[in-house]
Amino acid sequence: MPVAPAPETVTLPVNALRDFVAAIFAAAGCASDEAQRIGRYLVSANLAGHDSHGVIRVPRYIIWLQDGAVRAGQSLTVLRETTSHAVVDGNFGFGQTIGPLAVDLGIEKAKASGMAVIALSHAGHLGRIGDWGERAAEAGLVSLHFVNVAGGELVAPWGGVERRFSTNPVCITAPRPGHEPLVLDFATSRVAEGKVLVASQGGKKVPADALIGPDGTVSDDPRLLYGDIAGSHVRDATKGAGALRTFGEHKGSGLAFMCEILAGCLTGGGPSGPVAPGPRRIANGMFSLYVDPGNFAGAGFAASVEDYAAYVKSSRPAIPGAEVLLPGEPESRTRADRLAHGIPLQRETWAAITATARQLGVNPPAG
Ligand code: NAD
Repeated sequence: MPVAPAPETVTLPVNALRDFVAAIFAAAGCASDEAQRIGRYLVSANLAGHDSHGVIRVPRYIIWLQDGAVRAGQSLTVLRETTSHAVVDGNFGFGQTIGPLAVDLGIEKAKASGMAVIALSHAGHLGRIGDWGERAAEAGLVSLHFVNVAGGELVAPWGGVERRFSTNPVCITAPRPGHEPLVLDFATSRVAEGKVLVASQGGKKVPADALIGPDGTVSDDPRLLYGDIAGSHVRDATKGAGALRTFGEHKGSGLAFMCEILAGCLTGGGPSGPVAPGPRRIANGMFSLYVDPGNFAGAGFAASVEDYAAYVKSSRPAIPGAEVLLPGEPESRTRADRLAHGIPLQRETWAAITATARQLGVNPPAG
């Protein structure tokens, strides 16, 4: 009788996966509350369907923690401050700790002043930026976030082949009382680096023109980012000879460039390159604007958003039977599905996470 091939994915219940990730970070030396936050936000990215920023990051985060590139138990240092702005240093703490602290400071100042800017430097990887925009939306605020990765250049500018930008996400969120918020949240690279990571582990392929080689040829080959990946679980994006490309030709490239100016130069954390030789310390910078709609359009804002959202959705679908979606709708639908049915992970991704867990003496749940 023929043996059925092993399925390519394993599916984990949400709570079990969250607890498992928390146990890994607790075993690696994080306090229980921080370990749980890391589990919560990595799993939140998977729930939103952004597997590139979910638990796939666990092995790399543990290496960063062990190397001292990211630090447990950190808080914000306020460098400069007025009633409506703050320049804060994240001290290379985990993004899952530093991110909410920076957002909560922005919420507090915007509630008091009508609007606020928070310029954050030296944060550990902030993961899915939509989580921070959603936190502001839950507090009733509109927010804009421009992000870069100091020391993490991966992306070629429009017209070039050498890496000059990081993947520089932009996120804009708006609250919708009684509904999920509007959440526009994307990398300015053609795809987020994590999507190449997922593809390199047997997951969904990236578009055929997502990467560019040193000779200017476009490609979907993850080796342009990671070099030779045979037999290795942990990918190193410094090893490839090529680069990611920006989305939207010169427009996406210009947006990526301005993320470096806002999140790198203006926060003080610095742009993504040039990268000095030797070990790299990668850190997110985030320039965020928080706006209290009550201080602008006033009580009419919510109704105006609802009317316009309905109008946009009423556009006749290009494909009969399909639907026009609002920013954030794909994520909320995936979240509802995964909360009900669990989170699917590529077998190779699961193997890399469980190998890291076992090294730390943590037993994985059945996958
Ligand atoms: P993506 O290309 O999947 O785009 C997601 C955005 O597009 C969302 O706002 C989504 O609601 C919207 N969208 C998707 N399909 C839609 C449709 N059919 N109709 C209407 N809207 C639609 O995202 P990405 O570029 O792969 O980014 C993935 C994640 O990576 C983001 O959460 C981003 O914050 C994160 N990221 C983080 C870093 C970092 O340094 N921390 C760097 C890069 C990316």
